[in-house]
Amino acid sequence: MATELATADLKHAAKELGIKYFLISYVDLFGALRAKLVPATAIGGMQKSGAGFAGFATWLDMSPADADLFAVPDPQSLIQLPWKPEVGWLASDLVMNDELVAQAPRNVLKTTMLGADSVGYQMKTGVECEFFLTNADGTKISDAADNATKPCYDQSALMRRYEVIKELCDCMLALGWGPYQNDHEDANGQFEMNWDFDDALVTADRHVFFKYMARAIAEKHGLRATFMPKPFIDLTGSGCHMHTSLWAGDTNLFEDEAGELGLSDLGYNFIGGLIHSADAICAFTNPTVNSYKRINAPRTVSGATWAPNTVTYTGNNRTHMIRIPDAGRLELRLPDGAANPYLAPAAVLAAGLDGIQNQRDPGKRLDINMYTDGHKVRGAKKLPLNLLDAIRALEKSSVLRNALGAPLINGYTKLKTEEWDAYSRHLTQWERDNTLDI
Ligand code: ADP
Ligand code: MG
Ligand code: MG
Repeated sequence: MATELATADLKHAAKELGIKYFLISYVDLFGALRAKLVPATAIGGMQKSGAGFAGFATWLDMSPADADLFAVPDPQSLIQLPWKPEVGWLASDLVMNDELVAQAPRNVLKTTMLGADSVGYQMKTGVECEFFLTNADGTKISDAADNATKPCYDQSALMRRYEVIKELCDCMLALGWGPYQNDHEDANGQFEMNWDFDDALVTADRHVFFKYMARAIAEKHGLRATFMPKPFIDLTGSGCHMHTSLWAGDTNLFEDEAGELGLSDLGYNFIGGLIHSADAICAFTNPTVNSYKRINAPRTVSGATWAPNTVTYTGNNRTHMIRIPDAGRLELRLPDGAANPYLAPAAVLAAGLDGIQNQRDPGKRLDINMYTDGHKVRGAKKLPLNLLDAIRALEKSSVLRNALGAPLINGYTKLKTEEWDAYSRHLTQWERDNTLDI
């Protein structure tokens, strides 16, 4: 990755790094990545005023009559495409009428992080992006021989996709992300690649870029990479677990040798906050109709979904919503491949801070296999069963409304309710099969 000094002036960076084109990009409320491809000769002006967009043409809760939207690139986010070094990718902040757009996902995360910083907390996150490699039209996994009942860590299936995985990992090595392992995951055709955690904004930008990079490189190999939460109904879905900790400078505030499982009181209050707001958080971590076929799902052919069904936490046990895998961090297992890379961490931070401010008690941790023994637990809250439940929970959540702002909550719930309505108007084969003769 380019150095801070080199990227501050993008015109200069272009010359130094041999960049001919910049992708000035942003992520909208539905997580879609939008961009303009700008020749390096025009980057000087664009760095100052931003690239122009018609906001209504993307999912941002805008009107066709609104003024132009400007994406002002953040030079610190510059990533030179390792497989196409003449192109530089930039995340940007959205501005309209000279003001930051309050509901723009990257702005929301930055504002939430600034708020946390003002009370002495910096959030660090690491995400585990699972994805499927399918044929080009997305109908089947790409490797017919990848058909084991328990395919997790299958060495042969992993190595049959070596060319794609290696190219992706080489890119991350070149970018200095600190990738450290790649594996075949629990579903046939499913993979995961891990890199080091960092400041939550850095991880969010990398998360966006990783998804783009995986798609682009898979495409080069005649395949398709999909992060859809549950593309094949009997197979384990694609999660995007988020590991989280709060820091004050170089000190991990979640670490406490004396705390249970090495987690501090602050960490437990953060968990208390996540438990308090879990159903509303789902609207951002599980933002699609399809997301609810991954959580609350019946057992997959591999034997387990590895996705949560209940608002519970535990130690090193993968059957709950929150796992404490190690001292000094927690793993939220809720997010899926469709999670908005900015809004999901923003919601997690907002809920966690509420937990800290109100010293929310997470209750006792459950050390049971939640899949087999969950029914024995009295009062364990279920996760939302569908997108509409999650949207309604978000509408009602004063914690997230106060922290993330009314423009985001109102715009997001309005657009997502419209999406739910569109889905509900859709006539399914299941309805015909079960209703035709009634
Ligand atoms: P697992 O599969 O056991 O859940 P992975 O190794 O796949 O875990 O992913 C763990 C992620 O957590 C990585 O991105 C790692 O860098 C990140 N991580 C480790 N320590 C912390 C921490 N203190 N805060 C936030 N993220 C962390
Ligand atoms: Mg993992
Ligand atoms: Mg995990």
